[in-house]
Amino acid sequence: MRLLLATRNAGKLAELRRIVGEHAGGIEVLGLADLPEYPEAPETGATFEENALAKARDAVAATGLPSVADDSGLTVDALGGMPGVLSARWSGRHGDDLANLELVLGQIADTPDERRGAAFVCAAALVTPGGAETVLLGQWRGRLIRAPRGENGFGYDPIFVPDGEQRTSAELPAAEKDAASHRGRAFRALAPALHALADA
Ligand code: IMP
Repeated sequence: MRLLLATRNAGKLAELRRIVGEHAGGIEVLGLADLPEYPEAPETGATFEENALAKARDAVAATGLPSVADDSGLTVDALGGMPGVLSARWSGRHGDDLANLELVLGQIADTPDERRGAAFVCAAALVTPGGAETVLLGQWRGRLIRAPRGENGFGYDPIFVPDGEQRTSAELPAAEKDAASHRGRAFRALAPALHALADA
């Protein structure tokens, strides 16, 4: 069975391939770069689940393939759950990771250590050409430090220290991050649905 992961991010593709390989043999995972381009709608949903489902529905409509899409971000307790679905464009410039991170650090500069809790959240959605929809959430809790550390990862990784860790998620090797991360959790939660689809 061919499955589309609606992303151009090679890291996400490799991660889903590893998970599908472990949990659901017989599935070939393609990325957007493997198929003819189609117009991708902007992410306008109010929740991670809405955005992930919208991306997966668009992918099915454009390609006819069962499709998985994810949407993720950082939720900061002291900011009432923001930046949330606005994580990629919090500073007003889409994908400016450094500006986004610095804005969050500035906003919580006066927040004491015991109230600097945060979580990375990822929604993973599977939509089939028959219209069956599954959407699941993965969460990775931790706290935000005051100055960036580490070179791995992307986005807010250099200021996020997962629960039970001293290292930031930008200081974790990729395999360790995958094993614990919000995206790893959401993709693994989807594995039984992918398995059922492959067996159908
Ligand atoms: P997207 O789901 O790929 O659109 O990611 C949304 C945004 O959330 C990214 O641009 C990052 O700012 C943030 N984000 C999501 N996942 C991570 C992560 O694993 N590490 C750091 N930042 C992340």
